[in-house]
Amino acid sequence: MIPFLNLKNLNAPYEKELKQQFDRFLNTGWYILGEEVTFFEKEYATYCGTSHCVGTANGLDAIRIILEGYKILKKLHLGDEVLVASNTYIATIIAIKQAGLIPVLVEADLDTFNFDFKDLESKITSKTKVVLPTHLYGQLTDMEKIFAFAKAHHLLIVADCAQSHGAQTNDGNKSGSLANAAAHSFYPTKNLGALGDAGAITTDDNELADVIKKYRNYGFEKAYIAKYIGVNSRLDELQAAFLRIKLRDLDHQNNKRIAIAKRYLSEIKNEYIIMPQWNGQKDHVFHLFVIRSKYRNELQEYLKNNGIHTIIHYPIPPHKQEALQEFKELYFPTSEQLHNEVLSISTDPTLTPVEVDKIISVINNFVC
Ligand SMILES: *Cc1c(COP(=O)(O)O)cnc(C)c1O
Repeated sequence: MIPFLNLKNLNAPYEKELKQQFDRFLNTGWYILGEEVTFFEKEYATYCGTSHCVGTANGLDAIRIILEGYKILKKLHLGDEVLVASNTYIATIIAIKQAGLIPVLVEADLDTFNFDFKDLESKITSKTKVVLPTHLYGQLTDMEKIFAFAKAHHLLIVADCAQSHGAQTNDGNKSGSLANAAAHSFYPTKNLGALGDAGAITTDDNELADVIKKYRNYGFEKAYIAKYIGVNSRLDELQAAFLRIKLRDLDHQNNKRIAIAKRYLSEIKNEYIIMPQWNGQKDHVFHLFVIRSKYRNELQEYLKNNGIHTIIHYPIPPHKQEALQEFKELYFPTSEQLHNEVLSISTDPTLTPVEVDKIISVINNFVC
């Protein structure tokens, strides 16, 4: 079986360094908010091209804490509306709700897997305060359009960069810098993955960075002096130490994903399959390579029977989830179509050329 993602293989090249980092960490006797977190925050801010990075416990909290931070700064208020894609990962929507804001779901676009910009325009109300694009599957949203839209309607831009570490514009601006504040997840399967849970926020906003640094640690200004009611969502010191090693190799790993994606795009030819749209620029880091088919379920079963593991991202749209009853009457035909048709093919950087050959030829031989 060719697995979808072999994390053991993926982390194997770093084994020696990871062990050295662990030994160092053990010797310091300092396990929470130590110098590894500070170093990682500096290095990741530099990588993203922002003045600040604040580590968090995970990506969900990173989104939520940005919104909580803006509430403390009185730039957002309970009940404000946040525009968010109807086909994003459910965490994006949960974070908005946890912050006491209202997610307003926007129809998806069939080609970009992102906002349908016509529908986005139509969802503006007097309560809309934030546009929250998810760079889904690792591909940048059209940020020029988002910047113009946000400016026209006086909105904050909060980006969900959980899947897009390293994706950049033609001018070389990284996804983490293309927003008022951006949330990152370092869940082990992401392009930059920790060996456990981890996340971060990047921003150029000094005030926001100052607030969220306190907010993630109970709202403490200094030890035991609470300025706000915060949360416990600190980036773990050991994970920060591991992430520093993996950050140095992120572009290299992304390039491997892109090379696999290029092979799929030029070599997969099957009338039952629609390939993802990509202009060949640096705006995509192929966290996932997502194809579409009317025969998606048959295709997945066929691939499994031929030793190829695939995953559906995601099978149920957020507005059809039992947990989100308030959206159940909503209708997003494109988003629903996507959830019925998408299938993710591995872009595991550790795939061998022979494995990529096999994936391509098995897909090309699919008939129904
Ligand atoms: C992974 C992910 C998250 C949540 O990150 P966690 O670290 O698992 O909390 C949020 N949004 C998107 C798009 C993701 O892929």
